[in-house]
Amino acid sequence: MKDLLLDASARAVRYVSGIGTRRITPHPEDIARLTALGGPMPEEPCDPRTVLALLDDIGSPATVASTGGRYFGFVTGATLPAALAANWIAGVWDQNAGMRVMSPVGAALEDITLGWLREALGLPPSTGVGFVTGATMANFTCLAAARHALLERAGWNVEDNGLFSAPPLTVVVSDEVHVSVLKALSMLGLGRTRVTRLATDDQGRIKSDSLPAFDDRTIVCIQAGNVNTGAFDPAAQICAHAHRYGAWVHVDGAFGLWAAAAPRRANLMAGFADADSWATDCHKWLNVPYDSGLAFVREPQHVRSAMTVSAAYLQASDLREPYQYTPEASRRARAIEVWAALRSLGRRGLADMIEGNCRMASRFAGQLRTAGYSILNDVVLNQVLVSFGDAAVTKRVISELQNEGTCWCGATEWHGQTAMRISVSGWATTEEDVDQSAAAVLRVAGSVSQSGAK
Ligand SMILES: *Cc1c(COP(=O)(O)O)cnc(C)c1O
Repeated sequence: MKDLLLDASARAVRYVSGIGTRRITPHPEDIARLTALGGPMPEEPCDPRTVLALLDDIGSPATVASTGGRYFGFVTGATLPAALAANWIAGVWDQNAGMRVMSPVGAALEDITLGWLREALGLPPSTGVGFVTGATMANFTCLAAARHALLERAGWNVEDNGLFSAPPLTVVVSDEVHVSVLKALSMLGLGRTRVTRLATDDQGRIKSDSLPAFDDRTIVCIQAGNVNTGAFDPAAQICAHAHRYGAWVHVDGAFGLWAAAAPRRANLMAGFADADSWATDCHKWLNVPYDSGLAFVREPQHVRSAMTVSAAYLQASDLREPYQYTPEASRRARAIEVWAALRSLGRRGLADMIEGNCRMASRFAGQLRTAGYSILNDVVLNQVLVSFGDAAVTKRVISELQNEGTCWCGATEWHGQTAMRISVSGWATTEEDVDQSAAAVLRVAGSVSQSGAK
């Protein structure tokens, strides 16, 4: 075991040391070589060192270097050093975090981080949380709590009786709703298209001047951080309006919720603490490894009622039992890396990381704008949308940039225009990374427009 772990650590160090200088996406030959991991299921056991060598030698070159400083795809955080090291310890502990009796440390870290997170994100002191896989499941879990609360008030036990014959619920979303909210609604029997859509403005924010009347069986889904522009819905007005009718307000804040931790961006989060539930990801902007979403609910009894189970062999204590807040029963102790990230950053480090990424996004946008390209969004957070001309030209710039390998940015559509989307979400991104990446984008865009002119 010892030699194996030392070998794994040497290989990990080699991988991390090379991340800043390698190309972001693997060479096609490296991807082709992945077949060496397959073949028929082996008949006989094999030395774990051989297994590890095969995984590293074949697998490592075929990764995407998303933990380095020049990956700007989707909204993908890297992994902080403390979170990565904690993840190794989490691996050797192999705790089942479902119940306190199965992992006292797992449960304690959930209690501790919940307190820290409420403070850092400015959430009400009553707020409870489930540690789930990601924002999709966080949206699901929060909306299950909303479904429970509104139907319980209407005298209907949805967990026991399901939705057939239940009093109908109305779900209101923005025109810019994230697909994960729609997926959560579909899994909850509320329907992807059985929703009322609210109109949005040029940045993708709900227009709050024409809100319809709601009722006390309405769930209103708003967002902190539009996945394209980074814009925030006007939460104060929407929450005040919704609560007059007794509606439930749910916030999809997969990455944007973290703006609350950076004093200079906290104005964007005005009014969001008035909501009833909030979904966010730690594997995005907190920069912890994947499998780390948070489902926050203001009145935790609703998520507990929606998620808890009982069986004779379960050994629930009088304290908070992790499994009572999540769809999963057995699961890894997700709070370990969250704790390590928050403990190592402190409030100031967290604020600096969020603010730093936002500044890098502005820097990136500034260099592209100076070169004459149009930035399609107000860069209020960490997201930049840039167009290089018509759709065909912009698509060519994106695909040639991805092939060139200096940095990685994806494509999106914004209000009918094809755009390159740049998301600065990793702790490791420096000004040099941004300058080097912006130079690569300009080089590629220049050569695309020249070859187009011929
Ligand atoms: C990423 C994202 C999600 C989904 O998060 P996962 O962790 O991929 O499940 C939901 N909403 C928004 C706004 C996002 O950016």
